[in-house]
Amino acid sequence: MNTDDGIHTVEVDEPGGAGVRLSVAAVGICGTDVMFVGAGVIGFIYGHEFAGVDDTGNRYFVEPTIYGGECAECRAGNPQRCTEAGHGTLGIYRDGGLAEAVVVPEYTLLALPSQLDVKDACLVEPGAVAWHAVRRAQARPASVPSPCRSPGLARLSKRYTKPAEEVHRNTHRPPTSFPGSP
Ligand SMILES: [Zn+2]
Repeated sequence: MNTDDGIHTVEVDEPGGAGVRLSVAAVGICGTDVMFVGAGVIGFIYGHEFAGVDDTGNRYFVEPTIYGGECAECRAGNPQRCTEAGHGTLGIYRDGGLAEAVVVPEYTLLALPSQLDVKDACLVEPGAVAWHAVRRAQARPASVPSPCRSPGLARLSKRYTKPAEEVHRNTHRPPTSFPGSP
């Protein structure tokens, strides 16, 4: 909760409703979240970049888009542009993952491969944003500017323009060089 004297941890109700209950393992704080906090937007639990574990131990990344699946955009493969009532994004004007637990629709769950730590999986959503941008722009390493509005996404984008072998080598750097770190 954002207050005049800083951000405070608050108690929230156990999440309910239809869906799958996840114990949240990791949550990214997006530039969008920071902007919303700065603007005083409240009334829901933030967090649209998150991953967690269900009650039987299965580990998931959550694709936070909420959509109906029936409109023209959904049928065209663009659920992020859904026009149906109730569409939106978990963590943006509806409860998201910045809590100990959250209930999400089953269709938002993506099972994680065994080699990916669930605590790293909150980077799947920003990584997908960067990957989509690189793919659409057919970008090369020199064409992604570093000093852009989102330094974390710029670093992820630069990484995705490199050959796969080079990206693999870079994943073994110390954590201090992980995308999004200062
Ligand atoms: Zn739709």
